[in-house]
Order: sequence, then C-alpha cells, then structure tokens
Amino acid sequence: MLLPYFRRVQSSLIKKLRPDTSTSRPTLLLDWYDGHRRVLPWRALPGEASDPYRVWLSEIMLQQTTVKAVGPYFERFLARWPDVGSLGRAPLEDVLRMWAGLGYYSRARNLHACAVMVMRDHGGAFPDTEAGLRALPGIGPYTAAAIAAIAFARQSMPVDGNIERVVSRLHAVEEPLPKAKPRIAELAATLLADARAGDSAQALMDLGATICTPRKPACALCPLNHDCAARWRGDQDTFPRKAPKKTGARRRGAAFVVVRGADILLRTRPDKGLLGGMTEVPTTAWAADWDATTALADAPPIKVTWRSRAGVVNHIFTHFPLDLVVYVATVPAKTGAPDGMRWVRIADLPTEALPNLMRKVIAHGLGQ
Ligand code: SF4
Repeated sequence: MLLPYFRRVQSSLIKKLRPDTSTSRPTLLLDWYDGHRRVLPWRALPGEASDPYRVWLSEIMLQQTTVKAVGPYFERFLARWPDVGSLGRAPLEDVLRMWAGLGYYSRARNLHACAVMVMRDHGGAFPDTEAGLRALPGIGPYTAAAIAAIAFARQSMPVDGNIERVVSRLHAVEEPLPKAKPRIAELAATLLADARAGDSAQALMDLGATICTPRKPACALCPLNHDCAARWRGDQDTFPRKAPKKTGARRRGAAFVVVRGADILLRTRPDKGLLGGMTEVPTTAWAADWDATTALADAPPIKVTWRSRAGVVNHIFTHFPLDLVVYVATVPAKTGAPDGMRWVRIADLPTEALPNLMRKVIAHGLGQ
C-alpha cells in the first residue's frame, strides 16, 4: 500500500531536482546518432538514400534474430539476389536453403511471396506507406513502420524490444508489457524528428542496442540521461515491467536417422505450420503426452533394427520446449525410400534447408 505513495512522492521530488534543458529529446537523440551510429551492411551511409530492398530484407531477417547472426546471411542473400526482382524469380527451395539456420522459417516463405507480389502487383517498387507495406506477406506493424520510416522517411516509429526498453525507462512506465504497448508506442512517437524520421528510429534502435542495454545500461553515455525518469529513480534495470511469461508445455517425440551407405533418409515438412517446407529426418508427432512405448509405430516403414541413442536432443521453440529421442538404423545399399521421403548424400546436407533442430538431431544420430 505504501509503495504507490512512495513512488508519487519520489516522482514529484525528482521533477523538482532534474536539470532543465531547452534541447528537445528528438534533437539530442539525432545529435548522438550522428556521432555514434552503428555501421551496418544494410544501412545507408550519411548522405546516401536508403534502398527499400535492403531495408526490407534486413528487417525481415532481424525479426527475432540478432544483428550478429543476420550479417552473413544478409551479405549472402544480397550477393545472390541483388534486387527484389531476382529474389522474386528465384525458386522457393533455393530461398529456403539459403535461409537454413536463421530460424523461424515462415519468414523465408513470406520473404519470397512478398518479392513475388512486389514484382507482380507493384511493378517492382515497394509501397511507400505503412498501410501499403502491411498488405504484403510477412510485414507486420513493426516491420511496416521500420521500412516506412527508414526507406521512405514517413513519420512512423517502429517499436521493438530495444525501443520498448528505452521508452519504458525514459518514462518509468509502470504498466507491464504487453498491456503497456500502446502507451509505449505513443511515447516513442514523440521522439520522431520531423525531417529525419528514419534516423530517429535508427537512433533509438542503436541506443537500445548499445547504451540502454537490458542489464547495466551505460546511462553516463546516454544523450537522454538528464531527462530519464527511471535513471533518476535509480531502478532503470527493472524496466520494462513484464507480465509473467506463460510457456507451453514441454513436448516430446522421436526422430529417425536412417543411413544407407553415404546417404541419409530425409523428407520435407508440410508447407504450412511450424518449420513449414523445411527438410527433416522422419519423426513421430511431437506432443506433451507422447508415449515413448509407441515410438517405433511411427518409424519409416523400412524393415530394419532400430537402436536408440542415449540422451535426447532438446530444442526451445518460442512457444514450447521440445525433447526428441533419436533412433538410428543402417539399411542395405539397394533399400528404396518410403513414399514422401528421399535419400540425400550426407556430404550434401549443408545445402539442404535443414533447421537447426534437425542439424542437432542428425549430428546426435550420426554420433558427431
Ligand atoms: S538514462 Fe539510462 S536508462 Fe535512461 S534511457 Fe538512457 S541509458 Fe536508458
């Protein structure tokens, strides 16, 4: 009961003590950005115009993925498909292969569908408004706002986790996420500079990534430190407030690694759903109530003796953790592939669209 009262008294004292500044937050932010901006492969250099294709490609890759992980993928994609037309004309299989390892594979499918749509419906030019961009596959509110601001200088502020953190600290937003999202988006939009919306958005992204980090923010170096409510209170590390996480139940299943000489048995997952269209070894269904005693009933219909490998392969998806028991078998040279499956040379696995989970399963199965 005393805490809200204490917070009110603390806030009013802080307001009286804070130094005044006549420079606006958007200006301070841009001044800092001009001196400290990160050099990123997809980012235009000062004075250069942004390329919508690069901005879009990077924003799709950066969804749920770090800048460090995206860098090499971005370079490889750009070298192979330098514009939206070449990407739209590429076979989806090739795009999935190039994406393998980056995770969240529906993004690769949407990337390709989006390139096709931009070519077919927009003459090869990305729409230049948030609404137009949102009508394209794989472009949600955040990505539309980011592309609109960075590539087309629209007054849009994309709000990702970094920006939520900075803004919730600046204003000491007590409401927990995700409920606080609309309020944080409103506050974030006040940081847009009229003439340089894209730079404002990128400045805030950079500030969140390099200074206002989740733990131990470097407040002494922050251009907004004179005016940051959480910093003045001294509890900046505790923002943003978050509602307790609900994680899905752990799922279990079995995976089957079948080797025929230098080949391994693979199949392609259905287009829709988790890891849609990606390559995998055959598996059982994955379920919280999976019964290990029935595992072999779902094994590939090949007459063979199965051996189970010790231990399990764990993987964490965003909405559930997974444990897979791995069974291995070796079959004679002339064994055919069951319906819907195919033999692939083990040496060619790097070129297959295998998600990380399956790479772990195969490594475990082959004892690598
Ligand atoms: S002063 Fe500190 S907590 Fe506040 S925005 Fe800057 S880095 Fe973040």
